[in-house]
Amino acid sequence: MKAEPAHQVRLLDLQETDSRIAQLAHRLRTLPENEEVRRLDARIGGLRDTHTSLTTALSDLDREQRKAESDVDQVRTRAERDAKRLDSGQVGSPKDLEHLQSEIASLQRRQTELEEIVLEVMERREGLESRERQARTELEQAEAERDAVEERRATAVGGIEADRATEATRRERIAGELPEDLLAFYTKLRDQNEGVGAAALRYGRCEGCKLALSTAELSEIRQTPAEEVVRCEQCRRILVRTTDSGI
Ligand SMILES: [Zn+2]
Repeated sequence: MKAEPAHQVRLLDLQETDSRIAQLAHRLRTLPENEEVRRLDARIGGLRDTHTSLTTALSDLDREQRKAESDVDQVRTRAERDAKRLDSGQVGSPKDLEHLQSEIASLQRRQTELEEIVLEVMERREGLESRERQARTELEQAEAERDAVEERRATAVGGIEADRATEATRRERIAGELPEDLLAFYTKLRDQNEGVGAAALRYGRCEGCKLALSTAELSEIRQTPAEEVVRCEQCRRILVRTTDSGI
C-alpha cells in the first residue's frame, strides 16, 4: 500500500476523531443515569405491585364491610319487628311468647357478633389504608426521582450528541481528503484492532500498542520510502512516520 506522506499523517487526525466518537458512544452507553433509571424502574415496578395488591385488599375489605353492615341491619330490623310484636300484646300463647323472647335474645347475640365483625373490619381497614398511603407516597417519590434522573440523562445525552455531531462533521471533512484505498485499509485495520487503525511512530515507539521498536525494525523503516505505508510488526496497525519518530 502506498500513500502520500501528508495523507498518512492526516490519518492520525482521522484516528483521533474516530477515537473521540468511540469515547462519546461509550459515554452514552455508560452514563450513570442509565443504571439509575434501571434501578428506579425496578423499584417503581415493585412499589406498583405492592400498591395494587393493597388497593385490591381494600376493595375486598369494602365488600366485606358492606356485607357485615347489611347483616347487622337485617338482624336489627328483625329484632325490632319481634320487639313490636311482643309490645303489641298480640302474642297470646305462652309457647309463642317464649319462642319470641328466645328469638329476640338470639338476634341480640347475633347483632353483637356482627357489630364486632364490623368493628374488626374497620380496624383492619385503617391499617390497610395507612399502608396504602405509605405505598402511594413511596411510589410517587420514586417516580419523581426517576423523572429527575431522566431529565439529567436527557441533558447529558444532548451534550454528548452535540459533541458527536461536531466530531462527525470533522471526520467527514478529513475522510474526504483521503484516497479511498487508504481509507478502506485504515477502516479495516481499525475495526480489527479495538478501534485503532493508525498510530504514530514516536520516539521509536508505536503509539498503538505502546511497544518500542527494535533497532533493526527502526532501521528498516528508515530505509522504506516515505510513500510506502508501514505497519507495526507487533500490532499490525498502520505506523505513521512523524517528525519526532526517532528514525
Ligand atoms: Zn504497534
